[in-house]
Amino acid sequence: MSDNVLGADFFVRLRSDLLVIGDSILTDRHHASNGNYDPTDPQNQIGGIIPSFSLSGWLRHGMECVVQEYGATACHPGEANANFRKEGVYSRDLESGYHEKGGCIDDDGDGCVILDLFGGFDGRPGKVMRRPIKFSPVRSSVDYTRGQAEGHYRRLKRNVVSRNEDDARQPLRNFEVDAVANLDGCWHLSFREMKPEFVALLAEAIDYLDAHQTAFMHQLGGARNFGGGIVHCEVVNPLYEDHEFRRVFDRSKDSTKTMQAKDDEWFHEYLPTFQTSLEDRLEDSA
Ligand SMILES: [Zn+2]
Repeated sequence: MSDNVLGADFFVRLRSDLLVIGDSILTDRHHASNGNYDPTDPQNQIGGIIPSFSLSGWLRHGMECVVQEYGATACHPGEANANFRKEGVYSRDLESGYHEKGGCIDDDGDGCVILDLFGGFDGRPGKVMRRPIKFSPVRSSVDYTRGQAEGHYRRLKRNVVSRNEDDARQPLRNFEVDAVANLDGCWHLSFREMKPEFVALLAEAIDYLDAHQTAFMHQLGGARNFGGGIVHCEVVNPLYEDHEFRRVFDRSKDSTKTMQAKDDEWFHEYLPTFQTSLEDRLEDSA
């Protein structure tokens, strides 16, 4: 067994009933509109793109938690001199599982595993590349092997009413949010440089996020108080070939015997050695 059978590309399957990514979902509705576009019409075949910023923050938070569970500290995501809205927030974090961003860089110029992956200090590029997810409501046009998803774009209307009894619940304002419903697909991540500890950290962080999917802190995007952003997630077995990979998303088909054998191999042979590398690296930095 060697690391070389794995490429640098990994896919995380994400399933969510409702995602609201702030107002930052990009849609291609302008293609179909022609002046008579009705955003609430369920016949609309609108696709779009979920940018990777929110996904990235969600993943990073999961990875930080895993690092902390190993007893190490994680790189703080913010600059020490940033203008935080809350007094003492940075120093408080430094006492609870974080070290100062870039404070981990040693004489050889190497930082901790989080800095290595996400970069951002002294103009360092991160070694994990996070792509946006292209989604489409038309299942047959979704290419899962390219990190795409089935998803249904909806524009939700919210109505804020007056709480004052004299106003008889008079609407004060309306606003609309972009949402993707019934999302099922893949997030494509690639490592610019392959290190076994990266793979272990990714696998463990996704497990962690899946196990904590209903925890407020680990939901994705906005609308968390309304049940948005609860995400089932798993790393798709990187030993799968393309036809097996597609089968994962085919609700009419189960795993084949070969796929099950590959799952055993992944969980019992590959992952444990990657996890040992992660342990070693976190011990070195502790
Ligand atoms: Zn660090």
